[in-house]
Amino acid sequence: MLVVMQAHATEEQVRAVCQKIESLGYRAHAMPGATRTAIGITGNQAEIEQGTLDEMAGVQEVIRVSKPYKLVSRDVKEENTVIKFAGTQATIGGKNLAIIAGPCAIESREQAFAVAERVHRAGAQFFRGGAYKPRTSPYSFQGLAEDGLRIMAEIREQFGMKIITEAIDNESLALVEEYADVIQIGARNMQNFSLLKRVGRAKKPVMVKRGLSATLEEFFMAAEYVMSEGNYNVVLCERGVRTFADHTRNTLDLSIVPAVQRLSHLPIVVDPSHGTGKRNKVTPLSRASVAVGADGLIVEVHNQPDKALSDGMQSLYPEQFDELMVQVRQIAAVVGREIVPIGTVASLSSSVETPPDTRMATLR
Ligand code: PEP
Ligand code: MN
Repeated sequence: MLVVMQAHATEEQVRAVCQKIESLGYRAHAMPGATRTAIGITGNQAEIEQGTLDEMAGVQEVIRVSKPYKLVSRDVKEENTVIKFAGTQATIGGKNLAIIAGPCAIESREQAFAVAERVHRAGAQFFRGGAYKPRTSPYSFQGLAEDGLRIMAEIREQFGMKIITEAIDNESLALVEEYADVIQIGARNMQNFSLLKRVGRAKKPVMVKRGLSATLEEFFMAAEYVMSEGNYNVVLCERGVRTFADHTRNTLDLSIVPAVQRLSHLPIVVDPSHGTGKRNKVTPLSRASVAVGADGLIVEVHNQPDKALSDGMQSLYPEQFDELMVQVRQIAAVVGREIVPIGTVASLSSSVETPPDTRMATLR
């Protein structure tokens, strides 16, 4: 259920409604919007008796949400979610196009810094890299664990890029939460419900990658798990699904971008690296992702792809990433997006406000 507050409802009135919901043994999720606050109710098995909430001060109406996902839905929050980061104008969601780039795995300090230097120079605002790798074979490189996270923290220190890295289980999550700016939940863990709940209690934004055969609703339900625990900073990531096609590793499903945006306020980024598995397809699909309205890209780049310990075949050479950025900037301009640099910390005023979302008008 959803309580829609009146436009002029006071904070106190919102608080009182939340307290009432909690006193009934349910959970209240206040979602402030541009014009009014909505309060999502979770944990209730049946409808709350009429008159319990609708008569309270400041309440406009109480709506039944029939979809299985509630907090993810635009019914609860009309405006797009924009995830902000301290000290930078770069966001995930909003007018800025988020560019996340880096190697599949952090292999060594030298490798990570070599890639970081290049992707930063090309305009990436977020640095990706796995310290814990979910590998198909137990004999493959599994990641450097905390040493990898420390290297990423050094990269953030040196280049200012925000760090995004995967937690593969509840154990790694504690450490990843400490170091990362965004916690990645991998495709194979999209339905690891205990991990989703645990990351829902984390204090950092979470990027949930689409499962290998997940429907849109299943994808949304994964995000709902995270949000139901109180973490509303969730990013969805399309990374390709399994199909009969064998000219690519996965089939990148770009139609999910407008499908997500129609039903949900959450940002969605696209991973053309895992989505295709082939280096020569990453740039064309990056262009297409931006054209279709994605809120960002996550791209694998390696300084020596042929020597990479994982996903070398789909990793771009740094000069290919430079070219990708040139092309993507042009498409971004056409669809009303921009790529703001990460490194303008000093020049920013302390009250960076999200620009009004002009994207709906142009893209939806
Ligand atoms: C990755 O980002 O390196 C990764 C393992 O992704 P996915 O979970 O989409 O396979
Ligand atoms: Mn990878």
